[in-house]
Amino acid sequence: MSSERRPLSPDEIEYFRDKLIQRKKELWQEVLETLKREAAEEYQHLLQTVKDEQDIALADLQEDTILSLLEPKIRELEEIEQALIRIENGEYGRCIDCGKWLRIKRLEIMPWAARCRECKEKWEKLKALE
Ligand SMILES: [Zn+2]
Repeated sequence: MSSERRPLSPDEIEYFRDKLIQRKKELWQEVLETLKREAAEEYQHLLQTVKDEQDIALADLQEDTILSLLEPKIRELEEIEQALIRIENGEYGRCIDCGKWLRIKRLEIMPWAARCRECKEKWEKLKALE
């Protein structure tokens, strides 16, 4: 049953919406914690340093570190936002490329999935070529 492709019932959409919102909260929490942790380190760093060019470079590097730490989470948050928009538009559960219904099992693992597996593989290959 879980591997079938079909439109979702309103209850199922509600269920996946709850999952998306829950995950969104968790991610924001993680993003905020990372920022707090990193900012605290930066603060300590500032306390110990003298102002010269090297310090500026270090500060830049730390900013990059924060971004690379947060990037996967921010990307996931964007995917969740897109999924919530698809729920609003009544398009949730459908592959955004070929329009086929996604397997419920796939949504269970990745409620923010926008593409069926076949289209996602194609899309990733195209992206890798860019
Ligand atoms: Zn597809």
